[in-house]
Amino acid sequence: SPSVAGQKTYSIASIPADGIGPEVIEAGIVALNALTETLQTFKLEFKNYDWSSETYKQTGKYIPDGGLDELKKHDAIFFGAVGAPDVPDHISLWGLRLAICQPFQQYANVRPTRVFRGTESPLRNCSNGELDWVIVRENSEGEYAGQGGRSHVGKPWEVATDVSIFSRHGVERIMRFAFELAQKRPRKLLTVVTKSNAQRNGMVLWDEVAKAVAVDFPDVTVDKMLVDAMTTRMVLKPESIDTIVASNLHADILSDLAAALAGSIGIAPTSNLDPTREHPSMFEPIHGSAFDITGKGVANPVATFWTAAEMLAWLGEEEAAKKLLDCVENVCEQGVLTADLGGQATTKQVTDAVVAEIKKLG
Ligand code: ATP
Ligand code: MG
Repeated sequence: SPSVAGQKTYSIASIPADGIGPEVIEAGIVALNALTETLQTFKLEFKNYDWSSETYKQTGKYIPDGGLDELKKHDAIFFGAVGAPDVPDHISLWGLRLAICQPFQQYANVRPTRVFRGTESPLRNCSNGELDWVIVRENSEGEYAGQGGRSHVGKPWEVATDVSIFSRHGVERIMRFAFELAQKRPRKLLTVVTKSNAQRNGMVLWDEVAKAVAVDFPDVTVDKMLVDAMTTRMVLKPESIDTIVASNLHADILSDLAAALAGSIGIAPTSNLDPTREHPSMFEPIHGSAFDITGKGVANPVATFWTAAEMLAWLGEEEAAKKLLDCVENVCEQGVLTADLGGQATTKQVTDAVVAEIKKLG
């Protein structure tokens, strides 16, 4: 029919990579295909890239020559997890994830966290509506800029340095992004997290930029918090928080805490965005390769389903994204949960249940 022929098609590069990555990405693609078939409002075309720690061990490279140019042809990147027991973490991280994030200028890392219906937070008295956060992480510089080095290696007087880099340009663009995001959320509340009492250069610049940008967003309520105090607030007063913006390192740590407080690391998604849209953005579950459960068919696919929904929203398919997330939450409420959430369901059982919910949309 003409309406079907006229459907917009998005091209997605999938990179399942290591550990449970292939299992959850497969589940994600099954759910996305069910969604597009049911809704008939747009199409997705997937192209798979077999780049992983296995490839690295065989060829010395995670990404083959010309690989990034290949990726550029797609509208988005759907990423699994990278990391293997026999490859040092800093090699796998810089070899694949950061090798995409950095050249593609994915400077905004967005990590929503919520307690789903049917799941439980480890916090006492923290129910469904009380933990609903988005953490915005600076993803291009800061403490992970890769600057520094070692001298006098192995000597008792050896020194090692990791230099944090905070550019006004870098801080300003992430701050603006965070304010815009907070403004779009119902509570319009932004917490700017720093450690400007101890880190007295970059973090002070961060505070200054926050104050300057705030002027352009009079409807957003801003508060400032030191990162150590923030961890306490997340545990003791979760309902007081909405949107958080923090540096690369601080937000990395806060978002693991956030994922755990929401019930499991198996739920949370993360988006690596190039807000200029010059390059494709990359979407992945927050968890790693989790080799302890790889191949057992028990990985929680919910983080990847939510990742898929975030990807659709970024592509402009907000309504479909909302529907997908709703289906996932319905399945949680039905009690179809993997072991990390206290249930007994397998990856496939959760996926099948989500597909059944999706089909009800038709
Ligand atoms: P990486 O080194 O890539 O970070 P990891 O082995 O440290 O990977 P993480 O993904 O960080 O593992 O997760 C820590 C633990 O949480 C895992 O060992 C696993 O037991 C559990 N876990 C992570 N993701 C999931 C998931 N999707 N479903 C169920 N359990 C999970
Ligand atoms: Mg880990």
